[in-house]
Amino acid sequence: MQFHLNGFAPGDPHIADQTKRHPAPGAAGSLPAEVDVLIVGCGPAGLTLAAQLSAFPDITTCIVDQKPGPLLRGQADGIACRTMEMFEAFGFSERVLKEACWVNETTFWTPDRTRPANIIRSGRVQDTEDGLSEFPHVVLNQARVHDFYLDVMRKSPAGLVPHYARRLIDLTLAPATPDDNDHPHRVTARFERGDPAHEGQIETIKARYVVGCDGARSTVRTSIGRTLVGDSANHAWGVMDVLAVTDFPDIRFKSLIRSASNGSMIIIPREGGYLFRLYIEMDKLDVGERVGNRNITSDHLVAAARRIFHPYTLDVKEIPWWSVYEIGQRLCEKFDDVTDADADRAPCVFIAGDACHTHSPKAGQGMNVSMQDGFNLGWKLASVLRGTCAPELLSSYSAERQAIAKELIDFDREWAQVLSSASHADPGISQDNHARTQDYFVKHGRYTAGTAVLYPPSAITGEATYQHLAAGLTIGTRFHSAPVIRLTDAKPLHLGHTVKADGRWRLFAFAGSQDPASSTSGIRSLCAFLIDAPQSPILRYTASDNDIDSVIDVRAIFQQSHETLAIEAMPSLLMPRKGRFGLIDYEKIFCADSRSARDIFTLRHIDREHGCVVIIRPDQYIANVLPLDGYKQLSAFFLSFMMPQR
Ligand code: FAD
Repeated sequence: MQFHLNGFAPGDPHIADQTKRHPAPGAAGSLPAEVDVLIVGCGPAGLTLAAQLSAFPDITTCIVDQKPGPLLRGQADGIACRTMEMFEAFGFSERVLKEACWVNETTFWTPDRTRPANIIRSGRVQDTEDGLSEFPHVVLNQARVHDFYLDVMRKSPAGLVPHYARRLIDLTLAPATPDDNDHPHRVTARFERGDPAHEGQIETIKARYVVGCDGARSTVRTSIGRTLVGDSANHAWGVMDVLAVTDFPDIRFKSLIRSASNGSMIIIPREGGYLFRLYIEMDKLDVGERVGNRNITSDHLVAAARRIFHPYTLDVKEIPWWSVYEIGQRLCEKFDDVTDADADRAPCVFIAGDACHTHSPKAGQGMNVSMQDGFNLGWKLASVLRGTCAPELLSSYSAERQAIAKELIDFDREWAQVLSSASHADPGISQDNHARTQDYFVKHGRYTAGTAVLYPPSAITGEATYQHLAAGLTIGTRFHSAPVIRLTDAKPLHLGHTVKADGRWRLFAFAGSQDPASSTSGIRSLCAFLIDAPQSPILRYTASDNDIDSVIDVRAIFQQSHETLAIEAMPSLLMPRKGRFGLIDYEKIFCADSRSARDIFTLRHIDREHGCVVIIRPDQYIANVLPLDGYKQLSAFFLSFMMPQR
């Protein structure tokens, strides 16, 4: 799909008339007086969280931003494979796949040994290792990612639309009291309106939970007394999106360029086929110096880019967006408001995204990690507010995400050092540095792809006692999808794509070697337990007037080909009657795809003899792997954090 040929135009490129691409307006009227969840900030973290909460019409959510309307251009653009998997759960991965630029290979350029003032191509690698994800690494303007989320929210059961032009002034938290159940709206937030008709007016809103997704200078963070700690931002990088003519041959590849004496540059090809982004290394700043002091302009960026590009030329026609970026790697010690002094209570104020961790743009982490924060917190807040989980679950947000942010920041720091040490190297030893850069890039591809995240054992992530039953589905990592064939209509699809952002848990029951039709097969016995036994987590946690799969969704995967399995012999739990007409859900039974290298049992090292149950969290992470007949363990797993409904 090609666009931006005659100049950059923000918004949906599918709409030919550029004047009709206006972003949707925000909500009209005043802020509500009271809500369940108040989200401050319409960046990637806030919008992911809002999109998740908007799936539940029984939860009242308000999302606000100080900006007058949606973002139109600029900021981050890299979308990791793991983020694409999450977009699939929100239902817009296909739109992103079509519109984005795919990063298939990365090329490396270094000084020419014989003529060091020139750069030459010194390497080329596949961007993402084979089989890491069913999705590619893609690049798309952050503003379009926002648009997709806004669309999900607007069309959701809650019909959520942001309130713009509201600047958070402060937050106050009332002390916990015994009658909290009657008056749970403990947090009060004050906003100042910025829209011309109401400029300066103050609005107050009370919320049960507040989430600060308000970026690196977060007011919510300050209100709960947390600070970002880490490296000062002492290295400036210029970033600009350009429409330009160049004879540099790799302009449609992601390229890492290191010149002999003019610094480094990263080229990011962008959506539409003409636009590209340049990250340009600028001067080191003095300690405590802000980049604003240098008065860097877009002309400086173009001049620096031209020096690095030598002998290639760069004729810039349009710069739709540029910025000078000085953010270092910084992290908060905790991502919620609970302190050591009141460690027993559940949190009610949270921070997410850049509000609690900032990254250099070089590893493309900022937007991706921020969205994963929102996804992690969203289902937890929804479960607590809807009464399916105990409030203690909310403490796991900070515990899980702070540790991951720390790991990613350490990686980001190391990667930034590799890049800058390479750029300051003596040209004489440049080949070693170059090899190190390329090697590091390949080795750490899983970090940049977002698939290296591993949550340690906790109430919602099990121990590895039965990990051997599915060695390729590591407990604590995201469910690594694989192809399957749906039994009832022979449709080939990805098993992981059945996990939607709907707050439900999944049990994937992989059948063992027994005859599936036998009355004692592992799958049949498991279904009998789940549908009849008093200890069944499905019976315990699903209200009797709800669909049987509304809290825990069971799906079975068989080893046999779909032609050989009898649909009519399947347990009723796998073809449940649902909805107001009691219609049959035919989409819960799958077979391995017998074509070579696509069999899910082989790909994910699932024990063919015994099979297993894989428990998937609502955010697509693997919570546990258990034996097919591990009923006691299955029951015990949910017992510690879920609330009985019957
Ligand atoms: P943000 O996207 O920063 O969103 C925070 C939102 O909160 C904003 O919309 C803001 O208006 C709002 N807000 C802040 N304070 C208040 C308040 N008091 N009241 C109400 N609303 C408030 N990353 C890259 O990888 N590459 C880049 O080139 C790049 N360029 C960037 C350029 C800029 C100018 C900025 C700000 C960020 C850039 N980033 C870049 C970082 C990337 O965009 C962030 O990591 C990512 O957006 C983090 O998402 P977030 O939701 O946590 O915060």
